[in-house]
Amino acid sequence: MTTIRQMGRILLTMSVILIIMAIFISSEAKAASIPEYIKVGLRFGDNAASTYTLSSENGFVLGSITDEGFKETLPLPAYDTLIAIIEGNHIALRDKENVLISQDIGKNSCLLPLDYKENGLITFEGNKFRGGIILNTQSNNRIKAINYITMDEYLYGVLHKEMSQSYPMEALKAQAVAARSFAVESIGRHYNDGFDVCTTTDCQVYGGYEAEYPRTNQAVDETSGLIIWANGQPAPVFYFKNSGGHTQSIEDVWLSSNLPHLVGKKDPYSPDYSWIATITFNSFEQQLIQAGYDVGSIESVQVGGRNSAGAVSKLIIKGSKDTLILEKERIRTVLGPSLVRSRHFNIGEVYMGKNSIVFEIQLMLSNGSKTKNADQNINIISGDGKIKSIASESAYITNGKETVKAKTVESESKIDDSIVATGSEVTFSGMGYGHGVGMAQDGAIEMARQGYNFIEILKFYFTNIEVR
Ligand SMILES: [Zn+2]
Repeated sequence: MTTIRQMGRILLTMSVILIIMAIFISSEAKAASIPEYIKVGLRFGDNAASTYTLSSENGFVLGSITDEGFKETLPLPAYDTLIAIIEGNHIALRDKENVLISQDIGKNSCLLPLDYKENGLITFEGNKFRGGIILNTQSNNRIKAINYITMDEYLYGVLHKEMSQSYPMEALKAQAVAARSFAVESIGRHYNDGFDVCTTTDCQVYGGYEAEYPRTNQAVDETSGLIIWANGQPAPVFYFKNSGGHTQSIEDVWLSSNLPHLVGKKDPYSPDYSWIATITFNSFEQQLIQAGYDVGSIESVQVGGRNSAGAVSKLIIKGSKDTLILEKERIRTVLGPSLVRSRHFNIGEVYMGKNSIVFEIQLMLSNGSKTKNADQNINIISGDGKIKSIASESAYITNGKETVKAKTVESESKIDDSIVATGSEVTFSGMGYGHGVGMAQDGAIEMARQGYNFIEILKFYFTNIEVR
């Protein structure tokens, strides 16, 4: 039996624990902030070269990157073009007439435009960048090139690649905050490569200065310093194109457990996005082999289960050697995420879409000897010879006594898991585009059109979050 005194002691202990936790969380929160700079790998690994051309209208300055930021070591005001080239085990600098300027620029050296404090630009291999270019040797005797840039300058080069600059400002601002959060979470993602993020969809697509637009830069500026917080911590965030009507919980996509701010919800804002795709069993077998599965010749494909959000959670592939069950997002990874655009799909040509009521008019026309199905439109000839065309769904039929509307059949979007694809190919009919976790970009655009601001948009797609 727990006495009242014992209860009091337990409550007291619990409140002490809560206070300690609150102190812990607030000090954690203060410790975490947005890094001022980010290192973006432009050329590395097999994509690196042994020589690069850099140019800058007003000359260069060579420096090194320290914990405190950029430190100037050698101004080079007389050069508008520099060649970085591997010579021996070092990186040498030459001018455009091939005259040697430095035989070894050293490790972690960074070239900036001389006017970098006035937002000067540097051209690297024909593309303009803000910030500087760090050059390092790498194991295959080539030069690794990294764009050293402030976080918001990096986001300038990301935003339009993620959401077109033509979309409403509040949607662009929501995307800017989400992209900044993603970047903060991505710091050190390529630690082993010597930088933070790469320029492809592996991280976020980054196009440098060439990808900037006034409206996307404005969205970055107006949200500067803001990221998404969940449970007192900077939150990992995800986004994708279109939810197909319901977003996904992260545990239903990649993880075995959930994150409370990444739970699936009904999404009335993502507009209708239906798709249909067919893959032959031969191609499917090749995709499976590339992914490390050998089921032999595919005999059938069918849906084996759905999650609570209505997305396919299991795809059963029966082959001559083995039966394989692909689960969660692995289905799209193996089949190709641009072929199977989402996991809201049916096998076969069973229409799946949003708000999709199709009227099929079953109106028969007869001249007494022959009977024919009426087309979508019916031409009526009136007594004075005028011809009028009406849509067949607005046609009425009368026998002189009673009048009824022409029969219509509603064919709504439906889930049908009874279909088994056999033969030589499988067709997927689906809705939505992307993994479904976090913010639907199409939905964010629609919310902005309906007058929601960027914080309301983010708070709809991410549960129990703060934007600060
Ligand atoms: Zn990457």
